Amino acid sequence: MLKGILNFTHHLLEESVDKGDTVIDATCGNGHDTLFLTKLVGENGHVFGFDIQDQAITNTKNRLALNKSNNATIIKDSHSNFIHHMPVDKLTRLGGAIFNLGYLPGSDKSVITRSESTILAVEGILSHMKQNGIVVLVVYHGHEGGETEKEQLVRYMHLLDQKLFHVLYYGFINQKNDPPFILAIQKRN
Ligand code: SAM
Repeated sequence: MLKGILNFTHHLLEESVDKGDTVIDATCGNGHDTLFLTKLVGENGHVFGFDIQDQAITNTKNRLALNKSNNATIIKDSHSNFIHHMPVDKLTRLGGAIFNLGYLPGSDKSVITRSESTILAVEGILSHMKQNGIVVLVVYHGHEGGETEKEQLVRYMHLLDQKLFHVLYYGFINQKNDPPFILAIQKRN
């Protein structure tokens, strides 16, 4: 069976991230992926979650507290500044990251992820991530500004050196209404 977008996103991370790793949720939103990542890395691993909106930070912290997760640090800042918030010992164990692009569901649709900061963050994460680590981006692009971000991202990913990275594009091309798709980058050995 072909996996749906959410299942395949989790599958990619499960295959690449090890217990004890550090991982990044670059767009916490309501914290669903943050919680998933805390379970994935286990008690010896750590999740750094980023969002620029108070509501997202609150929702994510509440979700983690409800689930008694204490291996995450949630930061109100752009993912492009991730490097300033992560201690070196955690950075050296960076095994992966997830980006859920677009706007916070049920919130202000004008606050969206933008290609400039998304690409800056991806570039920084790739340069610090360990070998076989993975960055997964779920690209929602049906909203205003979404198409531009999508185009810039795909262009950027086309240019990544194939000797250094495997780059995947996964989506259902016969679905209507701008379905989300996955871009994933794995650092090669
Ligand atoms: N994964 C989330 C969940 O499980 O609910 C959904 C994320 S939502 C599609 C996108 C989020 O990215 C929004 O909450 C938005 O505030 C956030 N965002 C936008 N620009 C950002 C940036 N530069 N750095 C970090 N977060 C950003």
